[in-house]
Amino acid sequence: MTKIVPQPGIMDIALYQGGAAHVAGVTNVVKLSSNENPIGPSPRAVSAMQDEAAKMHRYPSSDHMALRQAIGDVHGLDPDRIICGAGSDEIIAFLCQCFAGPGDEVLYTEHGFAMYRISALAAGATPVEVRENERVTDVTALLAGCTERTKLVFIANPNNPTGTMISEAEVARLADGLPKGALLVLDGAYAEYVEGFDAGAAVINARDNVVMTRTFSKIYGLGGARIGWGYGPRALIDVLNRVRGPFNVSATALAGAEASVRDTDYVDHCRAENAKWRTWLADALAEVGVASDTSCTNFILARFSSQAEAEACDLYLQSQGLIVRRVAGYNLPTALRITVGDTDSCRRVAQAVRDFKNGAGA
Ligand SMILES: *Cc1c(COP(=O)(O)O)cnc(C)c1O
Repeated sequence: MTKIVPQPGIMDIALYQGGAAHVAGVTNVVKLSSNENPIGPSPRAVSAMQDEAAKMHRYPSSDHMALRQAIGDVHGLDPDRIICGAGSDEIIAFLCQCFAGPGDEVLYTEHGFAMYRISALAAGATPVEVRENERVTDVTALLAGCTERTKLVFIANPNNPTGTMISEAEVARLADGLPKGALLVLDGAYAEYVEGFDAGAAVINARDNVVMTRTFSKIYGLGGARIGWGYGPRALIDVLNRVRGPFNVSATALAGAEASVRDTDYVDHCRAENAKWRTWLADALAEVGVASDTSCTNFILARFSSQAEAEACDLYLQSQGLIVRRVAGYNLPTALRITVGDTDSCRRVAQAVRDFKNGAGA
């Protein structure tokens, strides 16, 4: 009798629940549950990916030089310190695989992104959740949560699903206070939504214990292409490249991402539209008694008076064809995360929440 058992930690991973996309029996559904760009990818990215499709019998570049160069040009970073992955999820997985194992601790915050825990467990490490301060990353608590076993500390800045962010000085204080041998990871999935923000590049450049992860899935509208990147000290990027498969990123994804990152006018347009409708939506919700923290991202964390009210509102929104995200799994049972959609979607959400608050769906 053989007994085939997975590695310790693997069975502690709960299957990831993606944002829903359909409601049975309801048409004209809008998906506001995965923080996707409602405007879609840059037309230049679409055309670059179409051109690439005709050449799909060829393996893609394995050094991703053209994309790393484009990212370096646009963001003022050294291409030799950039690594590309199948989404930033893959970079997060590489970080855990390379720097944490059995007996090591991986820290993240109480409302932190699900992949930190999943990738820590997949590497056999121990995930450690640290409290936040009213839905804001608490650097003092993170530093207090560190031990000599801490190997990785993940924060998303701005964070998902809270939408809040901490200052560069706070990020630097965190980096400088970590135990020796611990690496700080700045997840910048929403960094492009913050005008003029370097996502922590200056903090990284002045130290040897900080890296960042970035994605093309959010403002660039390429979630379906699966492409992201990381930046950090050259020695650490070199480590990650050892576990990276040579053809981990498809040729279409590389072409789409390169065209996207160079189309800075399009990114500026998406950022401005998002900011405008985010403010409009937050104000409309506040008017009917649904509070939210000022968001630095492309979503709003709408707070209700109880878990029952949040769930009832979610059901009513679904009946109106509006799919938002429940975040009880992120220790936020009384809230709903609502992606800032296009004009029509924002108006529909505001109207539906208003109707719900006035007794509809009860
Ligand atoms: C959406 C998101 C990502 C992006 O993941 P990809 O694998 O690049 O699609 C990473 N981190 C956070 C916090 C996110 O919300």
